[in-house]
Amino acid sequence: MYTPESFEIFGQTITVKYSNCIRKLGAVGLYEHDSKVITVATHDIDDKPHDEDFMSATLYHEIIHVLLSYTGQYELNMNEQMVELMGQCLYQVLKTMK
Ligand SMILES: [Zn+2]
Repeated sequence: MYTPESFEIFGQTITVKYSNCIRKLGAVGLYEHDSKVITVATHDIDDKPHDEDFMSATLYHEIIHVLLSYTGQYELNMNEQMVELMGQCLYQVLKTMK
């Protein structure tokens, strides 16, 4: 499973963590702008492991939140449906890129 641990945007390093701790919040992914950390849940609320596609799609959803935060698009960043669609689209592009 491809599990990147960080990336850079506008000279800032965003750390990516994979953890079981946020599932209790009902979240599968979380981006914390102040600490520059994305957390991707490794398991669902019933302790079933998430598969690679799900975790990757979650990561790209959170990356969209990062991009919108760093570009000052705060209203778009609150639109979870749009963020999810853009994350899915980005994931498809990168997964199928040759
Ligand atoms: Zn979101």
